[in-house]
Amino acid sequence: MATTSAPLKRMKCTVCGYSYDPANGDARGGIEPGVAFTALSDDWACPICNASKIRFIEN
Ligand SMILES: [Zn+2]
Repeated sequence: MATTSAPLKRMKCTVCGYSYDPANGDARGGIEPGVAFTALSDDWACPICNASKIRFIEN
């Protein structure tokens, strides 16, 4: 079993309901597809409502 790739979880904004899908990235925020939520910088914010990362939960 390969253990090098962590599962890419979708994370949901608890403020507006936006879902960050690592398979799609975040075009507005300049995040390319394939970037895990945990790899986003701490000052990344929801592209819809500008909520910070701590407002996101596992979707
Ligand atoms: Zn949001």
